[in-house]
Amino acid sequence: MDRRGLLQMIAAGAAAGLTGERQALAQEKTQAKMERATRGMPSPKIKDVIVIATQPAGARLTVVKIVTDQDGLYGYGCATFTQRAEAVGVAVEKYLRPFLIGKPTNRIEDTWQACYDSSYWKNGPVLNNAISGVDEALWDIKGRQAGMPVYELWGGKCREAVLTFANTGGDNPKDVVEGVRQAMAHGYKHVRVGAGFGRRPRGPGASEPPAGPKGLHEGPVFDRGANLRLMLQIFEACRKDIGFEVELMHDMHERYSPREAIQFVKDCEQFKLYFLEDPLSPEDNDWYRQMRSQCSTPIAMGELFNSPHEWTPLIVERLIDYIRCHVSQVGGVTPARKIALLAEQFGVKTAWHGPNDTSPVGHTAQLHLDLASSNFGIQEGGIITGVLAEMFRGCATFKDSYLWANDAPGWGIEVDEKLAAKYPFGANEQGERGRLNGGWGELRLSDGTIIKQ
Ligand code: MG
Repeated sequence: MDRRGLLQMIAAGAAAGLTGERQALAQEKTQAKMERATRGMPSPKIKDVIVIATQPAGARLTVVKIVTDQDGLYGYGCATFTQRAEAVGVAVEKYLRPFLIGKPTNRIEDTWQACYDSSYWKNGPVLNNAISGVDEALWDIKGRQAGMPVYELWGGKCREAVLTFANTGGDNPKDVVEGVRQAMAHGYKHVRVGAGFGRRPRGPGASEPPAGPKGLHEGPVFDRGANLRLMLQIFEACRKDIGFEVELMHDMHERYSPREAIQFVKDCEQFKLYFLEDPLSPEDNDWYRQMRSQCSTPIAMGELFNSPHEWTPLIVERLIDYIRCHVSQVGGVTPARKIALLAEQFGVKTAWHGPNDTSPVGHTAQLHLDLASSNFGIQEGGIITGVLAEMFRGCATFKDSYLWANDAPGWGIEVDEKLAAKYPFGANEQGERGRLNGGWGELRLSDGTIIKQ
């Protein structure tokens, strides 16, 4: 309190008939109240940083737990980079843990900047995921301290629940139309459809991939032209048999040349898609200007982005409609909120990447972002069931394509760490992925040329 304020308070006390000792006591109490309000309670300190590595289902999941020096106060964050999961664990345990122990938990922005800068070289997926685990755990702690869900700390809910989309796929239009109908029967109004020669089927309802064309090598062949022709047939069948009341999307997964991608995005204009996802790889970002100038199909992009150098130009030049970053990949909810706020200024909506290689903690952090972001568009994934729901208690409930938060403090998630320990990395992997320690292997054209996955 400044001198003027103190004099006013003393004058008010005198006017109320307070004198001497009573007046001094009142003044002391008021001062203490103001200090509590402005300074808050003393910050807890980071006592330990623990990596929880588990694979109860398909993907290797990494969660960071930060333990504080206050009894029972801790938090969880998602650091899942399933294709290089062991490397993230090392980054947390060998580098961030010694860097963070003893630091206060309340300075989240400052801690994020310090972690980001402490490696000197930065903006890579391993280190960004490691920082995300710390960042989200600190937000969880702050929410628990406040007795509020994290979305309340970001300004509160902009909506009651979070819209999601379904996935379906197949190797012929008839199967895909049936998959879309099934999704609609479960209450979905948005369905992402896929097809594929020489690639994994996508999501529930997807059939096994067909044998596909033969190549000059032993592995599966990805036929770009055949895939694009089949997708156009699929969209045509969906619009002819179902109509336009269902919103359709498709993930191109960065597998095409810029010329092929631009032609396909133009060809899709007639089907009025909700969005086409990742038509180009981040290396080809400059082609989005040409794509945008030639057609109006909405574009969603960004699950491979690591750095502001990648997403900023696409947002501020209004070259995309949905930003689809993988939240842990960009460093956690602190940078993701900045991306969402930047995107809001340029009419771009959020559609965070959320397949099963996001931990339930990560899904929940995204749910809180979705609830608190005015420019939220749609959310992928987030339905947690089976052993995952047993291991991560408090996940969102799902009804009629919407996810509902549990409104408990922090993320509202408790992790059964003993159960997680029963499913070490590799426990659910067979074949090539097990041999590659969770890695994805390779994808090639018929002549053997390697392409992006
Ligand atoms: Mg994708």
